[in-house]
Amino acid sequence: MKITGFETIPIRGRAMVLKMFTDEGLVGFGEPMNYAHWRPVAQAVEDMGEYLIGRDPLQIEDHWQAMFRSSYSRSMPVLVGALSGIEMAMWDVFGKSVGLPVWKLLGGSVRRRVRVYTASGGSTPQECAENAKAAVERGFSALKMGGSQGPVRFVDTPKAIDEMVARVAAVREAVGDEVDIGVDLHRRFSPTMATIFVKELEPLRPMFAEEPCHPENNEPLLALSRSTTVPIATGERHLTRWSFREVIEREMCAILQPDIRHSGGIMELKKIATMAEIHNMAIAPHNAAGPLGVAASVHVMATIPNLLICEGGHNRGQGLFNEPLTLKDGFIELPTGPGLGVDMEDDAIEAFRDDTFQLRGMFWHEDDGSFADF
Ligand SMILES: [Mg+2]
Repeated sequence: MKITGFETIPIRGRAMVLKMFTDEGLVGFGEPMNYAHWRPVAQAVEDMGEYLIGRDPLQIEDHWQAMFRSSYSRSMPVLVGALSGIEMAMWDVFGKSVGLPVWKLLGGSVRRRVRVYTASGGSTPQECAENAKAAVERGFSALKMGGSQGPVRFVDTPKAIDEMVARVAAVREAVGDEVDIGVDLHRRFSPTMATIFVKELEPLRPMFAEEPCHPENNEPLLALSRSTTVPIATGERHLTRWSFREVIEREMCAILQPDIRHSGGIMELKKIATMAEIHNMAIAPHNAAGPLGVAASVHVMATIPNLLICEGGHNRGQGLFNEPLTLKDGFIELPTGPGLGVDMEDDAIEAFRDDTFQLRGMFWHEDDGSFADF
């Protein structure tokens, strides 16, 4: 079998569908990270595709090594994003060529189903509480909310801190103690503010506090982890096992959140999970874009022992996949179809196409007009 071509379609939700074609008529699907800059990612897929045309799609590791190691700066996010989507598509073709789901090809499952959480937001405490209750009514036993509504100062006022804590407290009050709550700090907090805020969250016993610091500087994670009983999570912006290495080897946090769309793909996610396993760290894959990434993450999570929970439970391919992923009691059932098990028709993909471009993550401190971290 040989690879004959690629197509990328940007879709709603800052996501992307990658189609890989073969001379035997099998089509592989994958999801490269879109980054809200889909054009350079689509271009990167086309460029890497030139190398792959005419090659065997089942030589997955060999192609990964060649595509990753041949670039001048091998961890360039757009390139690793494109590579991740291509790698997923090769696994999809592999599974389809032998009639088996990807999780079976990875060594089989260690669990019957994969626990998932959904996003739940709101600006006021009351709104947060109502949305969280609605998420539980939709069948979720875990949810994640933002820690702040807007910019956070390097050191913020007691009033601002109390308002942030009140939103989480309202959710805990609304859903009770049997539902898990993740709080995403969105790397908006200075290490000092993260330490103060997370300490205040301790009585509310969240499942984790996510991404307190920029991935360019891991060191504050360690001090923060040692300052609190709240499990600290990070990883949605770390790429490949090399960028996770320091966090894992120095056991800087409790939970890693690699995103399969740009951390290197299916096998790379499994490798990162294995590195984490020997340091007693858990995996909670980040999935804030398309449903293909959710599906691919579910396949890997079926096979690793150190899963905590998987993001994206609401994003199961409804209206896009011929058969959406199945949610039951807060868990996604393991897909049983060949490959990723989530085929799509062209007209369904077209209905989701969204090639508009909008700069995101733009916000400013109100008081002095300086730019604030998104
Ligand atoms: Mg996040």
